[in-house]
Parts: sequence; C-alpha cells; structure tokens
Amino acid sequence: MTRVLVVEDEPPLVRALTINLQARAFEVDAAPDGTSALRLATERGPDVVVLDLGLPDMDGIDVIKALRGRTRVPLVVLSARRTTHEKVEAFEAGADDYITKPFDMAELLARLRAAVRRNAGDIAGGVLPAREPSSLMVVTEDFTVDLGAKKVLRDGRVVRLTPTEWHLLEILVRTPGRLISQRQLLEEVWGATFAARTNYLRVYMAQLRRKLEKDPSRPRYLITQPGMGYRFEG
Ligand code: CA
Repeated sequence: MTRVLVVEDEPPLVRALTINLQARAFEVDAAPDGTSALRLATERGPDVVVLDLGLPDMDGIDVIKALRGRTRVPLVVLSARRTTHEKVEAFEAGADDYITKPFDMAELLARLRAAVRRNAGDIAGGVLPAREPSSLMVVTEDFTVDLGAKKVLRDGRVVRLTPTEWHLLEILVRTPGRLISQRQLLEEVWGATFAARTNYLRVYMAQLRRKLEKDPSRPRYLITQPGMGYRFEG
C-alpha cells in the first residue's frame, strides 16, 4: 500500500483528496499545517507528499526545505500560486512536481503514482537521475509543457493537442528564444516535400495559440518572425 501525506489547510479539499486517494488504495495521513507535516513525515514515513504552499503556520517553501533536510520522499506541490517564479522557487527548494489549483483529480493521482514510481526506480537501480523529471518541464505563467509525459497543462487541466500540434510545440519549446525557420519546421514535422507549404504553419500555429495563449491575437509565447520563422519565448 502506498502511503501519502496530504498537507493542506482547507478541510473540504482534504476530504475530497482523502476520499479519492483511499478509493485508489492509498493510505492517507493529513496534516493541516507545516508543523504537523514535519512531525507526520518523520512518524509515518510516507511514500509521497502532497503539499499546499499557503499554510497557516509556515510557508510551504520552508516545509519543502525542512523535509529535504531529512528525506528524499517525492514532493508534489498543489498550490494556487501559479507564476513561473513561484514554481521555480518550489522546484529549487526540492519539489518533484507542481500542480496548480484548480486541478484535475485524475491528473493529480497519475502524477502521484509517477512520482512514487520514479522514486522507486532511483532507489532500486539509480536508473533515473534524481532531478531529471523537473528539468523536462517548460513552465510559463499560463501553461506548462511536460516534455517527458508529452503533455501540456493549462489551469490544472490537460490541453488536448493533435500529434502535429505537439510536434511543432515541442520543437519550439526545446530551444527558447531561438528562431526556427519555416523550412526547418516544415521539414521536421511534415517532411522535406512540404518545405514550401508555409500556409500549414500558419494554420497550426494559430491552433496552438488558441489553445495556449491568453490573447491568441497578441501572442506572448509563440512568436512569429514575419517571413522567417517562429520562436518560443518562455
Ligand atoms: Ca492553503
């Protein structure tokens, strides 16, 4: 049985998490504040921790740091804080994953299981480097691209992309700030015989912007350089 420690001060959310986790055979401990979180982490030895950052007695970032001082247990942050800066701060303190509220329960459960699996892999064979999963996340203020899981999340929900949209996005986000020529994108995604079909790019980039940009008509992340190509600004 997988033991999860839920650190959260909103009782309705604790109840919802507990019911859903127990239904999937997790054993649940709940801590309403940072102090009890640190105590329960020691006493109960959880396999994974779900942690809210806004707690009544301590800041969640300090809870992460204190936990990291004593354990490598996987830490999944579940927070309403959604800026890049806040996410980076949590990852740097030692969080393994970050989910923004409002969130999707199925996704949270999948990420918890993934965090437990990765940790088990680390212990068993040292196959996966400890911080590798987070380095594959491209986090912006409006969406997160998880290159490892091949998923895009926006407002805590998975954005459905077609394989072609995903392929384009992946090429762009892997080299932030760098111009990728129209020809390069067309050859990479559609093949060499399509190298002149710049209209394809316009159509697919418009679709991506509709799905990811707050204001698709004035894109902030997926930038066109007229006549040349496209670039991603993180
Ligand atoms: Ca809170």
